Amino acid sequence: MFDRSRHKIEKLNSKVWLSSPTMHGEELLYMEKAYQTNWMSTLGENINEIEKRISDKVGVKHAVALSSGTAALHMCVKLAGEKLYGKAKTGHGVLEGHKVMCSDLTFAATLNPVAYENGECVFVDAESDTWNIDPVALEKAFEKYPEVRLVIIAHLYGTPGKIKEIKAVCEKHNALLIEDAAESLGATYEGQDTGSFGDYVALSFNGNKIITGSSGGMFLTNSEEDAKKVRKWSTQSREAAPWYQHEDMGYNYRMSNVIAGVIRGQLNHLDEHIAQKRAIWERYKEGFKDLPVKMNPWDEKKSCPNFWLSCLLIDKEALCKQEMTDKEISFVPEIGKSCPSEILNTLGEFNAEGRHMWKPMHLQPMYRINDFIYNKEDVGADLFKRGMCLPSDNKMTEYEQDVIIDAVKKCFE
Ligand SMILES: *Cc1c(COP(=O)(O)O)cnc(C)c1O
Repeated sequence: MFDRSRHKIEKLNSKVWLSSPTMHGEELLYMEKAYQTNWMSTLGENINEIEKRISDKVGVKHAVALSSGTAALHMCVKLAGEKLYGKAKTGHGVLEGHKVMCSDLTFAATLNPVAYENGECVFVDAESDTWNIDPVALEKAFEKYPEVRLVIIAHLYGTPGKIKEIKAVCEKHNALLIEDAAESLGATYEGQDTGSFGDYVALSFNGNKIITGSSGGMFLTNSEEDAKKVRKWSTQSREAAPWYQHEDMGYNYRMSNVIAGVIRGQLNHLDEHIAQKRAIWERYKEGFKDLPVKMNPWDEKKSCPNFWLSCLLIDKEALCKQEMTDKEISFVPEIGKSCPSEILNTLGEFNAEGRHMWKPMHLQPMYRINDFIYNKEDVGADLFKRGMCLPSDNKMTEYEQDVIIDAVKKCFE
């Protein structure tokens, strides 16, 4: 093996995580209040409060707190499906026989609910300006499948996609838009919050997100009727009757009032977390200015990310040779070059956690037979080969980040 161990490894004393929960104390007070008042349930003041505060913050009329972002996305998909195609027969998915355009470069949770409802995802490639769904490729997808009426997009790593252009394509083709803002709470596009553009929106409060409840999610919409439906479906679809009366399939998707207490405490710190994450992104950018890499890009004129994860993209000429199978990777280290796996291994030796980019859905075995539409070249596959997420924990000290920056530099020596 090629030897890069010319510098001694100065291992960090405590592990620097990719993005771990950052608690402030208020969380515990609201959790305790739930306990003291015995609202240890899926009802209570914490839930009411966060639904109100988050819908106000994002600029959407209605919010329903749910058990996870994935549950919120399922509710989005089910609502859109019913609106477009009518109620499904019991035991059948509401999207049976229908295609849905979906972000290709994202976490599988964005679009798995399409499959829960028996629909078929058509994957649409990312663009290289923001790493989100490409409006040009989306238009191409509609040329191929003009009958499609539903689009699901995610804002990756806290960077808003080209949402106005995406919306224009959706409107042109009379399609509903589901916006997965799980990673982008607090990020704005032309001054408007992500999560306020879609017909149906999902947020997540999973442990690694910019603010967290340990778990949890939220459904957002401007339609009162749809918000009511989600409230009903997510609480087992009980009808207003003296007994358990059911007209619809039910789910147990509501958020606990204890979890809502954690989120209520975190909400006061969203702006602070964003500022810390931004400082981390900027320090990486400065630290890597002499390396053949770029930081994850955004449209500086139009948008303001929440900087949830700092990511790095290795220049094409500086990528060492790598061989990827479905589950393994091997690479050949080379002077002046590196690859995501080498950097991740090195970070690991320094006691810091990074991660590969989301692997595009069209490369995932479970979705390999689904169609994939791209513009000129497969941008998502290229980003996956050359890109990675850096340790982005907002509790990381400047010293720790300096060690991480040195570790990355070492990979290119
Ligand atoms: C985290 C995440 C989800 C899922 O949220 P959970 O609360 O973990 O279910 C969905 N989409 C994206 C893009 C995410 O990052």
